[in-house]
Amino acid sequence: MKTLVINCGSSSLKYQLIDMNTEESMVQGLIERIGIDGSLLTQKIEGKDKYVVTTPMKDHKDAIKLVLEALVDKEHGVINSMDEISAVGHRVVHGGEKYSKSVIITDEVLESIKECIVLAPLHNPPNIIGIEACKELMPNTPMVAVFDTAFHQTMPKEACICPLPYELYEKYGIRKYGFHGTSHKYVSNKVAEVMGKDIKDLKIITCHLGNGCSITAIKGGKSIDTSMGFTPIAGVMMGTRSGSIDPSVIGFLIEEHGYNIKEVDELLNKKSGVLGISGVSSDFRDVIDAAEKGNERAQLALDIFHYKVRAQIAAYAGIMGGVDVIVFTAGIGENSSLTRKESLKGLEFLGFTLNEEKNSIRGEIQEISNKDSKVKIYEIPTNEELMIARETAELVK
Ligand code: ADP
Repeated sequence: MKTLVINCGSSSLKYQLIDMNTEESMVQGLIERIGIDGSLLTQKIEGKDKYVVTTPMKDHKDAIKLVLEALVDKEHGVINSMDEISAVGHRVVHGGEKYSKSVIITDEVLESIKECIVLAPLHNPPNIIGIEACKELMPNTPMVAVFDTAFHQTMPKEACICPLPYELYEKYGIRKYGFHGTSHKYVSNKVAEVMGKDIKDLKIITCHLGNGCSITAIKGGKSIDTSMGFTPIAGVMMGTRSGSIDPSVIGFLIEEHGYNIKEVDELLNKKSGVLGISGVSSDFRDVIDAAEKGNERAQLALDIFHYKVRAQIAAYAGIMGGVDVIVFTAGIGENSSLTRKESLKGLEFLGFTLNEEKNSIRGEIQEISNKDSKVKIYEIPTNEELMIARETAELVK
């Protein structure tokens, strides 16, 4: 059985074809600049040259058509016909309160994903366009929606209801939803497997630190709290997002300094975080480089970032009454030994010691605490595509 995983952004589309017998990714592809001049597809297959197609793509339907052509291409593809694709798994950012699990996409499901547009106006529309384009081109192939929010639907009310007038939750659905659920679910299950433990017996803190960052408290395999909120801006500091700040800053900028709401939104989402503080870049590698060369603002950006992560880990260990394992994942979490070390500094009272030598190795599934450490620290590369493919295969079986 081969599952196609589709992750549609507003002008981009990432895809993978995964062989579910081996769980190996057969192809990884990226389409960029959909609907913009210079659209192109880049497809990678192990052992083959990169396949690049530059051709105009006016919309996502054109893009998906090209994906299917690239997959069956005699010279550069991996399958003989589209019939070999048993199912398609779509990443969908927001499933609201309705979806606590992945679902087979029916007309009714598609309607409810549309109802969630109001909660994720930038993300759900391209996800929907991708689903509709696939349905049109592959009408007989089952499709599954895998939601970023679903894993966090187990949060108890005290963790997810905002302390605002309760009617705002009832009328408008304002609450914490949480994101990156597919990644938190994948790495928490993986760490339990690697430790040879039943996830039901573990208290896990997963730190997904990439361009977007979120930290989740997982007790008995269930998300009981997570740092992102009503939108993915909340929680810890990120590449360009502020993370949680005093909301009065918004009114202050508008009332006293003539900003409009669009500008404030842009400021909080695109110009803040590591980029905003350092003035160097949102890319952690650039900021680490600059800090090493003595740039004080770059150093401050790193210090704030690590402080926020540390504070969140401590809070989640607190609400769970301790922690058995802390996991680092995503671009920064998997690769930056500095971030793992600095984020954990001062938290040794929780019961771990970090193995510096292991911590210097990056991008591996490995324990980075010492063998005799009571609390374990792991580095686990995330694999959201595999998680989407697994849930898709499970549902269409
Ligand atoms: P996204 O949220 O877009 O999926 P990623 O998970 O790919 O992002 O993470 C991107 C971040 O990971 C960038 O800030 C990048 O600088 C950082 N990163 C990648 N490799 C390293 C590295 N070797 N050291 C430090 N940071 C790294």
